[in-house]
Amino acid sequence: MSELRFNVLTDPWIPLDVQGRVRHASYVELLTGERDGEDLIHPRDDVRFYARMLLSALTQALFPTKDAKELRKRIVEPLSREVVEDRIASFKGDFELIGEQAFLQSSDASERENATASLFFDSRHDLFRPAHAYDAICLRCAPAVLYGVHAFATSGGRGYSPSVRGTPPITTMVGLPSVRRTTWANVLSDAERAALAYPTDPERPWLFRTEAKTGEMIGLVEGLFWQPRAVRLVPTEEGSCCACGQVGVRLLASGYAANSKVMGGTYRHPWSPAWEDTSPKAKRRWAYRNFRSDRPSWTGFTDLLSDAQGSGRRGEKLARPAPIVRQWTERLDPDSGASLLVLDYSADKARIRGRVCEAFPFSRQIADPEFGQYVRSLVERAEDVFRALENALSHVRRKGGGSKVKGYWLYDANAAFWQRSEAPFWETFEASLRGELDADGRFLERIERIALDLFDEHASSSANDPQWIAHVVRARGRLLARFAQRRKEAARAVA
Ligand SMILES: [Zn+2]
Repeated sequence: MSELRFNVLTDPWIPLDVQGRVRHASYVELLTGERDGEDLIHPRDDVRFYARMLLSALTQALFPTKDAKELRKRIVEPLSREVVEDRIASFKGDFELIGEQAFLQSSDASERENATASLFFDSRHDLFRPAHAYDAICLRCAPAVLYGVHAFATSGGRGYSPSVRGTPPITTMVGLPSVRRTTWANVLSDAERAALAYPTDPERPWLFRTEAKTGEMIGLVEGLFWQPRAVRLVPTEEGSCCACGQVGVRLLASGYAANSKVMGGTYRHPWSPAWEDTSPKAKRRWAYRNFRSDRPSWTGFTDLLSDAQGSGRRGEKLARPAPIVRQWTERLDPDSGASLLVLDYSADKARIRGRVCEAFPFSRQIADPEFGQYVRSLVERAEDVFRALENALSHVRRKGGGSKVKGYWLYDANAAFWQRSEAPFWETFEASLRGELDADGRFLERIERIALDLFDEHASSSANDPQWIAHVVRARGRLLARFAQRRKEAARAVA
């Protein structure tokens, strides 16, 4: 078994989607264009995302590009095999998956019986319990899963520090209909890197190290390969991979311990949007972002593309897109059929409570701050209608009404509002992109209709007590009055 070798640069692990079937490619084959696919295919959407991140991290580390012009050329034209092999020749040994000083692993990670489950977020998931044992993973899943372990580590107590970004925040990547082009679209050119003033990277920044530094002291590539865990994978008996299900040679995690730690401050992660506090008195300039856990992700997606003033508690701060997104909009080619790929976990300390993994539309027009402001105004209208509905239903509940089923009817009504608003939102979004000026007026009508329907469904279902019916009628009247008042205000604002 000690003979087993697998190199992350030259052996095939990238799960390309070739007409709905998986075909594995090596990193070299991808960069040379010998193999490519429109997308990746894997039963787990998070592993797919980790794979994209690893591909771009490797490219950021090994193939620097001078400026946007050179980067644009890389996106269009594959590199020759000669150039790729030449470049990786002296580093190849650092990317062995098995053995001493293996890639993204530590040879002296403390021995544990079988820590494979720790490699998977979902084994600590609050909502889903895995139906099968996390005993070992195949060679092809291992590179992406290892990358995910480090990039999305939560704080685990007893010295286990979270990822370089802290508790995992939103990750955004530019998606193109080619895995190779997507890989390049998510690296920063040297010019962009200099503008963001990252400190100099250490030699071979992908190697295992144990560090304790502030975020501002971490180099760009060092941060992409930051290792908060000391993990060690060892070969075990053949069987079914707990990530993809394929039968074959497998590895299990025999070591899993705490490692590098960020000592305050913020590493400006190229794939994460952040809040910027520009006030001179700010204690901390940058803070990472997550989606609101009580709202669907479409309510916040334009804030991932253009600068926006925060609202409420965040009023003083600016929402800034990820550096990679800004580079794409300002220097590369925002109109070439790109989408915005988003991964976000909602975590409560070490426990994962939810996951968003979606693709959103992305073009120059959509990333325009003015259009972003317009979309935010649609979301604010929806928020306003939602609050009116919430008040009306709460009023009914206080009076002892509502469907008499104990429990969550109010919660159900609230959740249904956001669910039913999604389709009207995207239709309005599309209509606005086409320049239809009355689209927002129709949107308001539709969500008010949704709110009224929900009120009727939830408040009137056990109406048999005349006194209580009077409460329902009053609450419904107030809801309608609120809508009318908002319309008047909106009309005045336009005039
Ligand atoms: Zn697998």
